[in-house]
Amino acid sequence: MKIMHEVPLALYSTMRLGGKANYLVHVRGKEELLDALDWADRRELSVLMIGSGSNIIWRDEGFNGLVVVNEFPGYEVTNEDDKDYFIRVGAGENWDGVVARSVADNASGIEALSLIPGTAGATPVQNVGAYGQEISQTLDSVEAYDRETRNFIILSNKECGFNYRSSIFNTTAKGRYFITYLNFHLYRTHMQPPFYSSLQDYLSQRNITNYSPQNIRKAVYEIRTSKLPDPAKIANNGSFFANPVIDQDAFNELAARYPDIKHWPTNDGKYKLSAAWLIEKAGFKDMHDHETGMATWFSQPLILVNESAKTTNDLMIFKKKIVDIVQEIFNVTLSQEPELLP
Ligand SMILES: Cc1cc2nc3c(=O)[nH]c(=O)nc-3n(C[C@H](O)[C@H](O)[C@H](O)COP(=O)(O)OP(=O)(O)OC[C@H]3O[C@@H](n4cnc5c(N)ncnc54)[C@H](O)[C@@H]3O)c2cc1C
Repeated sequence: MKIMHEVPLALYSTMRLGGKANYLVHVRGKEELLDALDWADRRELSVLMIGSGSNIIWRDEGFNGLVVVNEFPGYEVTNEDDKDYFIRVGAGENWDGVVARSVADNASGIEALSLIPGTAGATPVQNVGAYGQEISQTLDSVEAYDRETRNFIILSNKECGFNYRSSIFNTTAKGRYFITYLNFHLYRTHMQPPFYSSLQDYLSQRNITNYSPQNIRKAVYEIRTSKLPDPAKIANNGSFFANPVIDQDAFNELAARYPDIKHWPTNDGKYKLSAAWLIEKAGFKDMHDHETGMATWFSQPLILVNESAKTTNDLMIFKKKIVDIVQEIFNVTLSQEPELLP
């Protein structure tokens, strides 16, 4: 175990901003994790676990404690037959690598989650989802270290409390569990229509009616690479704002003023608005802000890109410009998706 001192946290966020961590360690197994926690305990340091930083933004003040980077490896097929396919995956595995391997083994259930950046272990935290699939649909259980009881435990799918982009890991039990392994139950049956509209368009345009995991992965891969910046090359955190949800009265008022407002009715009688539509209408599409060095991505204004920003404060100034103008024009409050840490 090698504990590093005074580590620039910009290296551990795909937005490439933020201060330093007092201490940082990479852990590849349970023993290393326990050693690191023991080391931090003896110094009374706070501890944070991260994956590959694609959903976090570090404050300029940095983190006065120990950052533990989860690199637990492992991809084990625990059982399979002509109907089912079970895997146990190390939390530190690259998520897209896990998807690629399951697809190569003809298993379905996570193929639409292709190319989502980050580690496997972070996927339950915000119940990662895309193109009609969510991790909660196939995740059997989560293995984790419980910092409260100081034991390694297993949480069933139900105990994870999954919801849209949320779970106990980012709400009620935030910071309590360090996720070590994931157990998935995948299937031999294929995804079936109706598909998410851009996926359906892709398939229809190419007359693809064989919805094998390979074909769906290829489709999602091509759709995503055509419209999203690769965080390895362009600093960004994916969608920076969540789609806001408003009530019927607020929606009626907005729809009267903007008949083309992009929206989706929710199950509880409310309306989810497209944050990208609001930002674009507010004049922020492909916007390059010279004051802060931040920009919106040309094909998806929901993605904020760090072109030459120096600090997280620059990003926050740019964010405020967008939030304020959307509030002023539409009376809708945008909320940030990536987590500001610590
Ligand atoms: C270009 C781009 C596109 C994206 N597209 C999508 C998308 O389509 N759908 C979607 O849902 N998300 C998307 N995201 C967000 C991101 O990819 C996911 O949230 C991903 O799961 C984050 O993984 P990570 O390893 O980078 O986690 P990190 O950013 O390192 O951490 C995220 C959170 O999880 C916690 N955490 C991480 N690992 C562990 C662990 N082992 N145990 C306990 N807590 C942990 C951290 O403390 C932090 O709170 C996108 C991001 C980018 C940059």
